[in-house]
Amino acid sequence: MPSPSPPPAPPVLPISEHEDEIVAAVDANPVVVVIGETGSGKSTQLSQILHRRGYTRRGAIAVTQPRRVAAVSVSRRVAQELGVPLGDEVGYAIRFEDRTSERTCIKYLTDGVLLRESLSNPDLKQYSVIILDEAHERSLNTDILLGLMKRLIKDRASDLKVLITSATLDGLKVSKFFSGCPVLNIPGTLFPVEKFYSAECPTNYIESSLRTAIDIHAKEAPGDVLIFMTGKDDIDKMVSKLEERIQNLEEGSCMDALVLPLHGSLPPELQVRVFAPAPPNCRRFIVATNVAETSLTVDGVVFVIDCGYVKQRQYNPSSGMYSLDVVQISRVQADQRAGRAGRTRPGKCYRLYPMSIYQKEFLEATVPEIQRSSLAGSVLYLKSLNLPDINILKFDFLDPPSRESLEDALRQLYLIDAIDENGQITDIGRVMAELPLEPSLSRTLIEANELGCLSPALTVAAILSAEITLRSTRSKDMEGKRKRQELPDGSGWGDHIQLLQIFESWDQTGYDPKWCSDHDLQVRGMKLSKDVRNQLCQIIQKVAKGPTGMHSRKSRKSDPDYRKLRRALCVGYGNQLAERMLHHNGYHTVGYRTQLVQVHPSSVLEGDEDGKFPMYVVYHELISTTRPFMRNICAVDQAWVLPILKKVEKLDVNRLSGGSSAPKDSEPLEDKHVNLPNKAVDVKQSEVD
Ligand code: ADP
Repeated sequence: MPSPSPPPAPPVLPISEHEDEIVAAVDANPVVVVIGETGSGKSTQLSQILHRRGYTRRGAIAVTQPRRVAAVSVSRRVAQELGVPLGDEVGYAIRFEDRTSERTCIKYLTDGVLLRESLSNPDLKQYSVIILDEAHERSLNTDILLGLMKRLIKDRASDLKVLITSATLDGLKVSKFFSGCPVLNIPGTLFPVEKFYSAECPTNYIESSLRTAIDIHAKEAPGDVLIFMTGKDDIDKMVSKLEERIQNLEEGSCMDALVLPLHGSLPPELQVRVFAPAPPNCRRFIVATNVAETSLTVDGVVFVIDCGYVKQRQYNPSSGMYSLDVVQISRVQADQRAGRAGRTRPGKCYRLYPMSIYQKEFLEATVPEIQRSSLAGSVLYLKSLNLPDINILKFDFLDPPSRESLEDALRQLYLIDAIDENGQITDIGRVMAELPLEPSLSRTLIEANELGCLSPALTVAAILSAEITLRSTRSKDMEGKRKRQELPDGSGWGDHIQLLQIFESWDQTGYDPKWCSDHDLQVRGMKLSKDVRNQLCQIIQKVAKGPTGMHSRKSRKSDPDYRKLRRALCVGYGNQLAERMLHHNGYHTVGYRTQLVQVHPSSVLEGDEDGKFPMYVVYHELISTTRPFMRNICAVDQAWVLPILKKVEKLDVNRLSGGSSAPKDSEPLEDKHVNLPNKAVDVKQSEVD
């Protein structure tokens, strides 16, 4: 094994200057809130300080991150600073990837992984310290962890320390939530940042950012430029256009330029490039999503270009639909973005929107994810914890979700048998909660296990949950189209079956990467789904009763219409079912809410010889772009749908939510109006960071 690279000189970060104060507060209190500006050293130093001061003698230190990219990147940095190989004393665990060992005493993990760990080990006894980092991001899982920590600290007051860190969080609010725990404010060393506003909002923010970047390069003193874009597609466009314009710059600049993308789905070897020092006499342009707002701190930035937008996924419980909108950022986000320019010396921030928009239209803070997500997975998780006295509608949230959202989650869980009509978790629900998958996929696997078609179901679940795009380029040229046309077509049953067929064809080549590129498929994505499949295989072996046929591919050959798999999908997606209209190929969703929807143009599902689409389909996701669309669709038989319709008839949300023990009037939750950011603009991309 190669020896680790020599550790860089330890950074003198603001937090290091407050070591004694921090340790004294942690010694004396079970919960401490630490507020410090981004880059002050919260993520990289707090764990090291507590490790040095002996806190790892009784257990490990867990540091949660809402983003996978941050868990990986920060652990790598800490391992480097301590001069140890990653995975030894310092490691990370993200969904489907565990780089820790028995020796690991500083563990970076996503908040979702910590939640999962608490299922098998509710007291989290393996940890002496739990640091909920980046709490200001208000990710759904961090919010749930906040509630759980409040309970846990009562049982482990003597041997557990909880730290909650944030760059912007209203510390008093969290402190109040934790019965008035101390709040440590770490003063930052931010230099002044001059802000420039545009006279109008840009009609094309890529073009405006591009012009501003070129202007800076031609006229301004040395210093790197951080450009905020909304997603991977925009970043790719921006990077190639910027490189092109810099090359063609007539008057030129006296400096070289290096353009680097930064987003969550960047391969790790490309991510680390932004942390390497800039070559001499070279200005770096880092084109990033909001991952660079607070999660990752890139040194050397002096100029920031802020387009004022972010891509945000929002769930509407009344339609069951997700929309992925480019929305205005909040004032807190705008200030964070500007702050990135003042870390090393006075900086400049170019806001591509007028000051009046910042003041009057931007929300004060971003709406927490818990108020804009489907809660089925979280509610199932909480139910499976078997906490005494837990009524889901009364769970102690920092900011409660709406009642509508919680009821929607309960209905969904009931339709896929995870809870019974009284809202009690079922045996099926317990197994589902143990699988690191969204409820529809875990239910599909359990049913597939019963029906003897687990192997293909695992493949489909792996591909859908690896959160990757299989198509490599989506190139619209003839060549790209031809390559894709050679792919299997789902045999008329839809996208799940096509995904399965693609994977199986690849399997038959012995997982040949060339086969992927020959068919316009991302090799990395395909490999990842293979890894995820293997892991799911192991997990389900542990949690499900006697799974069968995991490795056998017999079902595929003897079952050409994929009947069993489609049936399992129908049960798993029992809450995501649609019926075709009588006279055309539009659909309406079936269940406790009805919504007109269409088949997404990317679907391989086709009509029969009369052009008619299947009468019933299940879908993986409902998204609202130009219109409401179902994405990833599978045809199912009417006979399988009938039991689901019967369940719909029996739905009684009062019983599901606790019946007489929780009469509606006495609920603490109001039907809160969730204030979503306004000004959605056109969205073309399907992935958020
Ligand atoms: P905070 O959590 O307060 O935002 P961090 O601990 O993340 O601060 O960052 C402190 C310093 O460590 C910054 O100067 C940052 O550039 C550096 N740093 C963090 N992660 C990495 C990394 N993966 N590689 C190199 N430097 C890093």
